[in-house]
Amino acid sequence: MLRNADEYRAGLRDGRRVIYNGEPVADVTADPELRVAVDHSALCYDITELEPELAVSKDEDGEYSTFFHVPRTPEDLVRRGRLIEAVSRLGAGTIVLKEVGSDALFGLLRATTGEGLENAREFHRRCRDGDLALAVAQTDVKGDRTVPPHAQPDPDLYLRIVDEDADSITVRGAKVHTSFSANADELVVLPTRAMGPDDADYAVSFAIPVDTPGVTLYVSPFLHGERNEFEHPLSSRHKLLESLTVFDDVRVPKDRVFLNREAERAGRLAIAFVDYHRFTAINYKLPLLDMFVGAAGLVAEANGIAKAGHVRDKLARLISYAETVRGLAELAALRSRPGEHGIQLPDPLTTNMAKYHFAHGYAEAKSILMDLSGGLLATGPGGADWANPEVRAVLEKYFAAAVPAEQRLRLLNFVADLTARDYGGYQAVLATHAEGSLEAEKLQMARSYDATRAREYVARLAGLETSA
Ligand SMILES: Cc1cc2nc3c(=O)[nH]c(=O)nc-3n(C[C@H](O)[C@H](O)[C@H](O)COP(=O)(O)OP(=O)(O)OC[C@H]3O[C@@H](n4cnc5c(N)ncnc54)[C@H](O)[C@@H]3O)c2cc1C
Repeated sequence: MLRNADEYRAGLRDGRRVIYNGEPVADVTADPELRVAVDHSALCYDITELEPELAVSKDEDGEYSTFFHVPRTPEDLVRRGRLIEAVSRLGAGTIVLKEVGSDALFGLLRATTGEGLENAREFHRRCRDGDLALAVAQTDVKGDRTVPPHAQPDPDLYLRIVDEDADSITVRGAKVHTSFSANADELVVLPTRAMGPDDADYAVSFAIPVDTPGVTLYVSPFLHGERNEFEHPLSSRHKLLESLTVFDDVRVPKDRVFLNREAERAGRLAIAFVDYHRFTAINYKLPLLDMFVGAAGLVAEANGIAKAGHVRDKLARLISYAETVRGLAELAALRSRPGEHGIQLPDPLTTNMAKYHFAHGYAEAKSILMDLSGGLLATGPGGADWANPEVRAVLEKYFAAAVPAEQRLRLLNFVADLTARDYGGYQAVLATHAEGSLEAEKLQMARSYDATRAREYVARLAGLETSA
């Protein structure tokens, strides 16, 4: 039931159609750049050996990855949160792989009905027993954001059903930003929004192997290029890949379909996934937040400014930022409640508050860290300079501060990779948009907050007869 990292890599060598930098890629595990993403995601398999008490679960059928364990109690969610944090710690504060697919499975198990639910249960068993890696293609390209799917000038701007027979449906369109698509075994497709009756063809959810005919993955070139470890201590080892995921009349067998034209259930399913995915987000961000706090303290010491009043103030703000997210992440599990079919639901209000707090505070945290580090983030020496003994002697003389130059430069390169260079830009966009934008989180907070207590209290104090 449990695979190791090499078995995971072997499963990716199939006929999948991947385009990177304008060229087809024959084997994603051998491509010098995409391999970094494969190795990053393989950490999800390494962790079963490194932390078996967290990462391995057991039932009467045997051992399986805890990622596939359907939460039934608050303790299950606390354990899931710890596992997500642990694997993210291995992955330098970035989501690794199995988190997103299992979020989708839990959403499907809660929000589908009838044949769709039976198919979802069977698919969950198959993923768990095969220890499969899933990518989730939810976000459509969407065209004009204010126009519903059926009214878009091009009917393919949301993925839709274009044909159906007794055994299959055929789908056409594209999803975008699909993380892990080229290094997963299966693609899980979910609707991205609520739909009206006119959008029925667009209300579709299913799962297919990544090498299914008609699927093409156009992988984004972000973080493209050779990176030496001195200048890029994080992004030389850790990378995600995202794709424009095109479905060109793809045939999907009906036993793999979870939602087939049930427009009224599309929004419900979209949110049921998000309920888990934002809980994943607030837990996998915790090591990233530790990186901000840790780097700020170390860089301040390296520059000799650790005792300055403004530095202590900035460190306190970073600590408050990071620990507020941590506290809310724990609270989201503790305040969880049973959802449909007894599957435990992280508290949506607390989860969205944590995600919003994280995303909203990210720019300030980044700015504090850049402030404490100084201008060498942009003007410092590179890996080739450091490798040349003559140049290095100059750098060692002139870049020493409260610590030797090597320690200071390695710290500054860590901060530059995290905040100022292309990986820093990637992380900033990830913080703003991935797992939903700030507005989406505010919407969920407003929906989940029960205002009765607050309104009744004011009504009583103000002498009103009713709180309506
Ligand atoms: C690195 C990364 C990885 C991702 N991974 C995945 C993944 O694996 N799978 C997946 O399915 N998705 C993934 N996403 C997608 C992510 O969920 C979306 O980026 C997010 O939901 C925002 O959607 P968008 O990018 O289309 O931006 P938009 O929706 O275009 O948002 C841009 C702005 O428009 C506003 N807006 C949007 N619609 C309206 C409207 N109707 N009225 C008024 N304002 C509006 C938004 O609030 C925002 O301010 C990923 C994104 C990133 C950046």
